[in-house]
Amino acid sequence: MTPVESDTPSPPPPGVVTLVGAGPGAPDLITVRGLKAIRTAEVLLYDALVSPELVAEASATALKIAVGKRGYCVGSTKQEHINDLLVSYARSGKSVCRLKGGDPCVFGRGGEEAEVLVAAGIPFEFVPGVTAALGAAASARIPLTHREVGQSVTFATGHHDPDSPECKLDWDALSRMTTVVFYMAVRHVEKIAARLIGAGRAGSTPVAVVTEATTPRERVLVATLDDVAALMAEAGLQSPALVVVGEVVRYRELFSHAHAAEVTR
Ligand code: SAH
Repeated sequence: MTPVESDTPSPPPPGVVTLVGAGPGAPDLITVRGLKAIRTAEVLLYDALVSPELVAEASATALKIAVGKRGYCVGSTKQEHINDLLVSYARSGKSVCRLKGGDPCVFGRGGEEAEVLVAAGIPFEFVPGVTAALGAAASARIPLTHREVGQSVTFATGHHDPDSPECKLDWDALSRMTTVVFYMAVRHVEKIAARLIGAGRAGSTPVAVVTEATTPRERVLVATLDDVAALMAEAGLQSPALVVVGEVVRYRELFSHAHAAEVTR
């Protein structure tokens, strides 16, 4: 059998898309595989939270496009635009690197972008990254698990108002988990702490808030569930921040040396 001849040239095979985690902030916390994906991409679509030093690793001939205001909280229209760009560049045969803060699949919409690529028949690969919780914990010298006081660690989103129907967190379950790290929790920290206390967690449970973790602007606040909201407001801490709840926070004191720009009680 001979293939049917046609005058219209067939489109090039689609380029591969790599959904790459850039790490939590410090540019040297990317993986070797992630860096290779940046360097070899013909098109780089990157989030604003990603370090400029990593963007500068792309080839001089690569097309570099900033997408997403802060790498998260992108509205659906914006997300659709990103999806369209991913699909159209890959369809034109280009290799595309989609660079996201932290890990692409931890509160990073990597799963949604992968769904779009699968639907469009475009090959893709996830390249993991150091998620902000791990970067922040290391930087603040908090072991997220510990044999005695931290037998589990849970990542939760604090993005939704706990009083709103969009918030589907199980507060009873969370109050019983040893270490809980809340992403995107700055706005609702007061209600989050109140919910955990209401579900039975002691108000004296230690809490660490880490902002801009692993960057030169990193700040760490140590508080308790009872006073974290007031102390955060007093210190003027802002997003991006992680709220680490659990006895493991106590290790920070044991493991700490002097930290620059530190907020202590
Ligand atoms: N995919 C990312 C998370 C995106 S959601 C990851 O795996 O890390 C964005 C949230 O991540 C922010 O609101 C904040 O809660 C957290 N975050 C990201 N970078 C951070 C940093 N350098 N310091 C503290 N929190 C950070």
